[in-house]
Amino acid sequence: MEKTRTKVVLLQGQKVELVRRLFKEDVPEGVIVRPNPRVITHYHTYGGISRFFEGLAQGKLMGTYCSTINCEHRIWLPPRAHCPDCWEPMHWVEIPAAGAKVYTHSTTNYPGEGFELSVPCPLISVEIPGVCTKFMSYLSEFGEGEPYIGMPIKPAFRTENPTYSILDVSWVPAETLLPSGST
Ligand SMILES: [Zn+2]
Repeated sequence: MEKTRTKVVLLQGQKVELVRRLFKEDVPEGVIVRPNPRVITHYHTYGGISRFFEGLAQGKLMGTYCSTINCEHRIWLPPRAHCPDCWEPMHWVEIPAAGAKVYTHSTTNYPGEGFELSVPCPLISVEIPGVCTKFMSYLSEFGEGEPYIGMPIKPAFRTENPTYSILDVSWVPAETLLPSGST
C-alpha cells in the first residue's frame, strides 16, 4: 500500500509560493490550507556569566580569571564562571581593550535564516593583550580592504537600549595615533 505523507499546507497566494519553495512541488488541488501562527518566547538565564552581559550594557568588557597559582591568572573572554583548568570559581575583572587587533576574519555575504546583522558582515576573532582566548565578534564599521589580520580595533557598545545579548558589543577601527609632527 502506498504511504500517505502528512504535509504542512498554508494559505493561497504568497503562502502557496512559500509551500512550493519549501517542498519544491505544487500544492495539490483541493487541499485545505490554513495559517496557524505561533509566537514562542524562550526565557533562559545567563547564570554565573550574567555580569558579562550587564557589563556590555554599561560599556565594559568583563572577563574572568582564576587565582589558583597553577592557572597563571589567565583572563578568559567570554568569561567562564568556573576555571576550565582547575574548576575553581573565577574572579571578575574589567578588560581594557587597548591594543586589541583582528586575529582572523571571515566575511558573511549570504546569511542564513535568522542572521540578525546586515551584510556584508565581517566576523572577526579579536586578540586582546593579556586575554588567553580569542573573542568572536563582528566589525560594525569598516572601509575598503578591511578587516585585515592585525588591524587595530576598539570595542563599540550598545549602551542605549541594550539587548543583553552578545550583539551589545561590536568592533570598529581604532584611530592610529600618528607621531607628532608627521604629515
Ligand atoms: Zn584555575
